[in-house]
Amino acid sequence: MSREAGSPSGKDNMNSTLNNITKNEVPKSAYVLILLIYFISTVTLSGLSRNQGSIMFMGMNAPLSAFLGVFSSLGNILIMLIVVLFGKLGFITSLTILILQYPVILVNVFMRHSVTSISGLFSNTFTVVAVILIYTNNRKVRKYQERVSEQAVMDALTGIPNRFACNELMRDLVRRGSKFAVVSIDLNNFKSINDTMGNLVGDEVLKKVATRWKELADSGKAGTVDFIARLGGDEFALIIRGYGTDDSIVNTIKVYENTLKEKLTIDDCDYYLTACFGYAEFPTDDASEITLFSCADAAMHEIKRRGKANHILHFSPEFINKEKDLETERKIRTALENDTVFFNLQPQYDINHKLRGFEALARMKDSEGKIVSPCEFIPIAEKIGLVDQIDLSVFRKSAEFFAGVLKKTDADLTLSINISVKHLMKNNFLEEMKEIIDISGIPVKNLEVEITESIMVDSERAMYCIDEIKKMGIRVAIDDFGTGYSSLSYLNKIPADLLKIDKSFIDEMNSSDSSRQYVASIIQIGHILGLEVISEGVESPDQLDVLKEIGCDFIQGFIWGRPLASEDAEKLMLSA
Ligand code: C2E
Ligand code: MG
Ligand code: MG
Repeated sequence: MSREAGSPSGKDNMNSTLNNITKNEVPKSAYVLILLIYFISTVTLSGLSRNQGSIMFMGMNAPLSAFLGVFSSLGNILIMLIVVLFGKLGFITSLTILILQYPVILVNVFMRHSVTSISGLFSNTFTVVAVILIYTNNRKVRKYQERVSEQAVMDALTGIPNRFACNELMRDLVRRGSKFAVVSIDLNNFKSINDTMGNLVGDEVLKKVATRWKELADSGKAGTVDFIARLGGDEFALIIRGYGTDDSIVNTIKVYENTLKEKLTIDDCDYYLTACFGYAEFPTDDASEITLFSCADAAMHEIKRRGKANHILHFSPEFINKEKDLETERKIRTALENDTVFFNLQPQYDINHKLRGFEALARMKDSEGKIVSPCEFIPIAEKIGLVDQIDLSVFRKSAEFFAGVLKKTDADLTLSINISVKHLMKNNFLEEMKEIIDISGIPVKNLEVEITESIMVDSERAMYCIDEIKKMGIRVAIDDFGTGYSSLSYLNKIPADLLKIDKSFIDEMNSSDSSRQYVASIIQIGHILGLEVISEGVESPDQLDVLKEIGCDFIQGFIWGRPLASEDAEKLMLSA
């Protein structure tokens, strides 16, 4: 297997790569430049001290010796700058320069009896003290900085590089145009180890797997230059450089697969692990580090989908609707980076057409200013783990707006925000909510959180969060009711306030008696369970008449109001 010229070799590969990611060094050319300026200023200084002439300066006839102080201070500043910017090298250089100056100064003071050199003696001594102080203090700060940057690139559980380090390395390789392959790795059946043996054993498994792979990457035994990182859960990423053909990538992956397959013993129990390895190459599969990993991930998911024995697969465009999905992914990342995700507000009314409040709906524009539908970008954002940022951006902006307008009106209106289940399951979800509520000043009694029915996965974490939301005084709505695993026992378990009947049922409602009966039953059951009911997507007067008849409490639909820009929503709020 061939190795790329100039690429780091085996042993210190992982460490040197990490050092490259964390270090923030000033280029050596700056060092040479500062020394050059220092040299020029000292030559000028000695020239000035010998020259008795004068020049016109700001209308005065100034002796050249008046500029001695300027060049002497410049010299001292440069000396200290070298210590600050170049650490040990700067310290040794500065101290050497200062010590070498002593013989000249001492000869001038004691043998030539030059009075002007006395100030030089003091200035030199003070600079030596300053240089020593700056260096010792800087060393402490640097050590602390190194520790912090090390933590930023390390996965806390396994001690190997984390997602950030992996992204940084890929970004760097793409910038330099170096050929590399990225492998998305997912352990098979890891969840069952966690479920049956407990999380502590699961953590031990992850640590041991990470250690094995890190040792392998460090040893360079696979014949390529490898970098292994843990992305979270049982997901890892491997970056391979210094390979010749496509076969070399597969060979390297096989070495990692074989290392994984070796028996792993924890608390006298033996485990035999396997994983799926999907990979993609830069620049042939994708030319951006952001989407290249998604390609490798798509290949990994394709293996899982096929459920085949072959656990290594190269990315191919047919695995995803690549162009469209990647394009949407780029749009999402750009919108989040530029903070251009915005919101529309769709009014909700009671059955007598009295304004109840608004649902905040995420909106995003592409580079040509065209609106991208949330039906397109929310599922992709969920897939790539960015939906929480969209939820929070919409919540933050709409809550600030809503709180502002509420102060100008007596109307008691509700703001409903959509929260993705993926977001709800995140560890810091509750803290993030509280922070936005505090900053925006929106009263919790005017706030409602919409969660889709898929929450029925019955996760304890999700139920805990819903309980906490309720305890905070926020209302909870079950969105898109009827489209998921609707079950009565589940409805009973969730402490919701509002049931939102999905538009698909409203669309069908007038097509047959049974459809109408179905909607009527949902409303009745909702009422029995103490929930209010709102119908979504009401478009025609016929639908409205039926909903009035069967006792629906609230209406949201184009018939009474489309999603509005905030200025228009404000007018509606103030006239309520
Ligand atoms: P949803 O929460 O069920 O929102 C209602 C959707 O139905 C909105 O579409 C709204 O514009 C549309 N709609 C309401 N009345 C009518 C009607 O009479 N006719 C028709 N044809 N459509 C109507 P939108 O804005 O495209 O949002 C689609 C979905 O995207 C939302 O469904 C929600 O699941 C998701 N979404 C939107 N904003 C966010 C957000 O901030 N966070 C998350 N996680 N999801 C969001
Ligand atoms: Mg909704
Ligand atoms: Mg809905």
